[in-house]
Amino acid sequence: MSALTELNEEIARCHLCEIAETRIKAVPGEGAEDADMLFIGEAPGWHEDQQGRPFVGPAGKYLDELLASIDLDRSQVYITNVVKTRPPGNRDPLPTEVSNCRHWLDRQIEIIRPRIIVILGRYSLARFFPGKTISKIHGTAQKWNGITCFAMYHPAAALHQQSLRRVIEEDMNKLPILLAQTKTTPQAGPQPPPKQLNMFEV
Ligand code: URA
Repeated sequence: MSALTELNEEIARCHLCEIAETRIKAVPGEGAEDADMLFIGEAPGWHEDQQGRPFVGPAGKYLDELLASIDLDRSQVYITNVVKTRPPGNRDPLPTEVSNCRHWLDRQIEIIRPRIIVILGRYSLARFFPGKTISKIHGTAQKWNGITCFAMYHPAAALHQQSLRRVIEEDMNKLPILLAQTKTTPQAGPQPPPKQLNMFEV
């Protein structure tokens, strides 16, 4: 069994939060274990809870379309969430839930060692860059622990607000160039948190 499968089984057995008692299935994540790009959303919704798979509802269908627009499908990337269990009624995750899941996501990142972390939405952004806002930094890349992170609006936001569709699609289109750029530099391993965050436009 691979280290990631083993970890995901551990995640599925986690009962640190009360929401574990009401879930149908935990949603650790899925995709290529050696993915160049790791997409990180907020938390599972109803559809994800039913299936134990990330982004399989309407937002997921749109994410599939966005991936297809850059000639990728979900088997070529890894997709997960900041929180691995559905908050009941699709409420926002609580700070304790984000912090209880923190080490699971850290370990997934250590195993996958992605070239790019694609931050989907404000909860994912707050997990890596507290205090930053998605409207200001979407479509730009910055380093977290030596890994290139690229922030985008959450696909669900674009479903609710048509005007964001073009923005999210333009941001998605920047990913292939950014990925090519990361391939000219050595792949980062886990490093101590940066003292100063660099931001660079793609
Ligand atoms: N929204 C998320 O943030 N994650 C999912 O898995 C589904 C919807």
